[in-house]
Amino acid sequence: MAIIRKLQAVKTEQDHLLGIQDLSFSKVTSILDQAKTFITLNKSASKKTDILRGKTQINLFFEPSTRTQSSFELAGKRLGADVMSMNIVNSAIKKGETLIDTAMTLNAMHPDIIVIRHQDSGAPNLLSQKVNCSVINAGDGSREHPTQALLDALTIINRKGKVEGLKIAICGDILHSRVARSNIYLMNMLGAKINVVGPKTLLPHSIERLDVKAFTDMKKGLDNCDIVMMLRLQNERMHGSFLPSPREYYEYFGLTPDKLKMAKKNALIMHPGPMNRGVEIDTNLADDINRSVIREQVELGVAVRMACLKIFCKKT
Ligand code: ASP
Repeated sequence: MAIIRKLQAVKTEQDHLLGIQDLSFSKVTSILDQAKTFITLNKSASKKTDILRGKTQINLFFEPSTRTQSSFELAGKRLGADVMSMNIVNSAIKKGETLIDTAMTLNAMHPDIIVIRHQDSGAPNLLSQKVNCSVINAGDGSREHPTQALLDALTIINRKGKVEGLKIAICGDILHSRVARSNIYLMNMLGAKINVVGPKTLLPHSIERLDVKAFTDMKKGLDNCDIVMMLRLQNERMHGSFLPSPREYYEYFGLTPDKLKMAKKNALIMHPGPMNRGVEIDTNLADDINRSVIREQVELGVAVRMACLKIFCKKT
């Protein structure tokens, strides 16, 4: 009788970064402290270290990305890892392979860390149950984008010294935004007060259960805020009609100098990108070097991702 031997992967326990909700305060602190050391390194003439020499990092982006993917790629390279970014368009996924089959194929190549972005909420969690390496969530559906929130926190700390006690307004498409969710969890953990602002159709029901105040009037929502965080309309996740027109949206919820007057005089403007100028933000405000820290968010994003790769990468 033929003996059929089935290959069974032996799953080892790994530390994954799947969402802010799973992180302890001390883990957040160690990521941010570690990231601070990389800010300096990233400004120096020689940016390369060998902290992850010999480690293999695979970037698996199922959704478009400019900032996050390039940031993770640079971060891995600066730490000395071998970085491979899968080109999904030319991969077997386009031939119908499932996420799990792709994961098992990649797992057989012994990566130490996989960075994944996926349109489905929970995809990184599923992947983490199937592979033997660490998994970092680079954005899953409308659920979480933990490294975005961590880099936002680092940017705020870099400018304001701390997050605790600050009043932060998160404005726009709260319903479909993973950036909003991760930031709500993180900024609450770090002791900020949070207002969420948007049209009723883009504010989730019972959002106040997440310990935020909800506003449909932007001027009221921005009142006396230290930070104004603008979000893009996530049109790719909108099934049905949520808004009258981009023009009307800008009128009521776009950040303009007039509405910004309601916030503190030294309030900072943030945006995770990509930005739609003239839809969620006035083009001059986006470029105002005295108020906007949008470029700094991108810069510090590399440092935060280096810290996350270093801390979460498979150790053995
Ligand atoms: N880049 C962010 C994300 O991937 C924000 C956005 O796309 O609007 O969620």
